[in-house]
Amino acid sequence: MDKCTICPHKCMVDRTKNFGRCKAGDKIEIGGISLHKFEEPCISGKNGSGTIFFSKCNLNCVFCQNYEISNLGNGRKIEVEELADIMLKEQENKAENINLVSPTIYADKIIEAIKIAKQKRFKYTNNIQYKWI
Ligand code: SF4
Repeated sequence: MDKCTICPHKCMVDRTKNFGRCKAGDKIEIGGISLHKFEEPCISGKNGSGTIFFSKCNLNCVFCQNYEISNLGNGRKIEVEELADIMLKEQENKAENINLVSPTIYADKIIEAIKIAKQKRFKYTNNIQYKWI
């Protein structure tokens, strides 16, 4: 985090003090959580996909459909433990999967959150399935 190279831009900035191209700091920021029933059917399945939308992004796509979240950075800061709890809540709500939207810039913290969730009762990480329709 003190010389960020999480993504291929390799900004080498200290994210505790400065911003790189993605404008993300050293805390996770999320712009939305939902049990999303309108992804592609193979992702949403019967119960919906457990989406977590991360604020800010390293890609800056011109036609991003989540512009307010990814480019304007709408959202709030959360701790790793809260992200783990959000994943567990999605599981309780019977989400078919955990769907991380624009996660790359927080990859290190997401790994920590999955480890915490696994210590509780998180079951998705060893259950990768591909279902073609
Ligand atoms: S995650 Fe952000 S700060 Fe880090 S290298 Fe990528 S664009 Fe730069």
